[in-house]
Amino acid sequence: MADRNELTDPGPATPDTSDWTWVVTRRCPDCGFDPNEVSPLAVTEVVRDDKRRYAAVLGRADVRARPAAGVWSPLEYSCHVRDVCDVMRGRLEQILAGGGHETVRFANWDQDAAADEGAYWRSDPGVVRGELEAAFDAAAEAFDRPDGDEWNWAGLRSDGSEFTARTLGLYFLHDLTHHLWDVRG
Ligand SMILES: [Zn+2]
Repeated sequence: MADRNELTDPGPATPDTSDWTWVVTRRCPDCGFDPNEVSPLAVTEVVRDDKRRYAAVLGRADVRARPAAGVWSPLEYSCHVRDVCDVMRGRLEQILAGGGHETVRFANWDQDAAADEGAYWRSDPGVVRGELEAAFDAAAEAFDRPDGDEWNWAGLRSDGSEFTARTLGLYFLHDLTHHLWDVRG
């Protein structure tokens, strides 16, 4: 294991400014995730399975290697999905706490600022693995909670994109699937 004091800051990766909300209705040509083939009831099961796959990625020898300039390393992607789990769980909890009476509003989450502030690149893979497993477990439990019409309760992102508990779950699953494709996990 490299001494973290000897690591060099690779600088910020190229920000992803794409609008990915279409992935809740259409198949992703990159990672193959098809929202029409996934039931939101399966979110918990898939999250548990993906947890094991990301944990394996964190044990790889190339975990710190950026595959190309401006592209996150497997370690940086793993830090990202750890945080995605927390953000998506928080948003689902917010929807459920709203009781379906109103469209709740999510706080903005800037994933590139999070990567910078969290210094993803200099994280310890072993520490990240523990944090990631806990975040995946908590998210899996949260998405096991909605029942019946609760899946249709709504939440609004700060950029105006509207989600329901169901489409939030699909969006979340695509993110996990796509980043496994990114890291060949
Ligand atoms: Zn994808």
